[in-house]
Amino acid sequence: MKRLSVSLLVGILAALWITMGTGLHTSYCLLSAQDTRPDKLSQQKSESAETRKPLIGIASLAGETYLHAIRSSGGIPVVLPCTDSNEIRINGYLEQLDGLLMPGGPDIPPSEYGEQPHPTVNLLGDDRYRFEKSLLDAWVNRSDKPLLGICLGSQWINVSHGGSLHQDIPSAFNVNHRGVTHMVRLEPDSRLANIFGETRFEVNSFHHQAVARLGNGLRIVAKSPDGIVEATESTDPNRFLLGVQWHPEKMPESDLQRKLFTAFIDACVTNAEKQPSSNPLIHVETGELPIILSAPHGGRNSIPDVPERLGVGSKKFVNVADSNTDRLTEKLADELQRQLGKRPYVVIARFHRKYLDVNRRAQWAYESDNARLAYDAYHQAISDARREIIERWGHGLLLDIHGQAADPVAIFRGTQNGKTTRNLTSRFGEQALIGETSLFGQLAKTGLTIVPEVDSTEREHDAFDGGYIVVTHGSQEEGSVDAIQLELGGRLRTKSMLEPTAEKLATAITAFATDYLPKSPLSEKVTEAVD
Ligand SMILES: [Zn+2]
Ligand SMILES: [Zn+2]
Repeated sequence: MKRLSVSLLVGILAALWITMGTGLHTSYCLLSAQDTRPDKLSQQKSESAETRKPLIGIASLAGETYLHAIRSSGGIPVVLPCTDSNEIRINGYLEQLDGLLMPGGPDIPPSEYGEQPHPTVNLLGDDRYRFEKSLLDAWVNRSDKPLLGICLGSQWINVSHGGSLHQDIPSAFNVNHRGVTHMVRLEPDSRLANIFGETRFEVNSFHHQAVARLGNGLRIVAKSPDGIVEATESTDPNRFLLGVQWHPEKMPESDLQRKLFTAFIDACVTNAEKQPSSNPLIHVETGELPIILSAPHGGRNSIPDVPERLGVGSKKFVNVADSNTDRLTEKLADELQRQLGKRPYVVIARFHRKYLDVNRRAQWAYESDNARLAYDAYHQAISDARREIIERWGHGLLLDIHGQAADPVAIFRGTQNGKTTRNLTSRFGEQALIGETSLFGQLAKTGLTIVPEVDSTEREHDAFDGGYIVVTHGSQEEGSVDAIQLELGGRLRTKSMLEPTAEKLATAITAFATDYLPKSPLSEKVTEAVD
């Protein structure tokens, strides 16, 4: 809510300024003046903390409806392949994920609750059965992190707590819950009713099984009018653990059903913040500017159960960090907020490059599969930011921030010689990449040494001409977010130079944004305004 109220306030200020007849460009100045007030600054600080995005595992399925539900509620979805049921992998998930979504699917083998299968039973595949059983047992018993089960997922929750299922609703009750809609009635004092704020509503229904004997530590919190159990939750008031028999993700237009995902993501954030020994692998912030800052090589942390990479057979193997690029990127985000009045999107690696190099294609990025989750999450965070920027502003800029050891005072440009900024130059010409008003032109104006020089058509330095991140997320193939890799010399990244360097970078980015980036969102969504 705070995020919305801040963006609303900013929007109103901007609108006022525009109606006063002044150009959009200078609305930034007004806002930055407003934002230097201490109360406003602290408000925006807490806002960025609140928008930390949790990593949500989705067991076995990569269905777009599940991904969308998590993404649009503020989480980063991470698909967990069902071929990975080994214990070390699952321990890694327990440590690295902030929440788990168990999705829909076929039936659990009735042997799990001591019964012979009914003829209508359609069993889960072996891999998926083994994986989901191990994952859920571990998640329920060895973690206190939030868990949301949908349809099969809710049946799994009951079975993993020692409960049983009605194997076929039509045979047992002579009613049908497949391909219909029906009412549900919620227990008024339940977590579920508290989330929805209502105790009676209609849901979709695609199941032929349901809870029979209730598992230990669970309570029934919703039923259909014909008496079928439609939702269960933990009896522990401190644990977000609940399963619903309907499919809220198939109702993306429903404000009511969205509340379930929002509550789930909120619980994941709250839980992650109270973890005493949390060792986050990636720092992600949602922005209010069409700018993404990425810093893949500045992290220092290890990744659970991941050994150092050896680089055998790799041509471009590097396992030293780009020192202080993580801190520089944090300071740059703060400085942009000071100069532009709003924060950029931020994705910073907290893991050390010797365990995982996200600026390489997957094949060369990691050697232990336990690093895959962090790899996927890093790229997912950039993709999500990029998608949001295109939706909200139409165009944007990704800056991938690195360190180089070739020239201690220089900044090298990396765009694959213009390929990753194709959208920019197709709209504004080559000058937007190499000229005085280009980002590097503006950097030169602040006194920084840039390579290639302003107006030079010289090729970019072979070693720094743009890696996997800018190639993947820039405008090379399609899309309207341009990507530039910045490779900063060591003297620009010493501890005492971080602030002056961040200030110069922000000054150049602000000038570039004034000339080349959209000044305000395409349209503030009406739903946001009334929330
Ligand atoms: Zn039903
Ligand atoms: Zn680097």
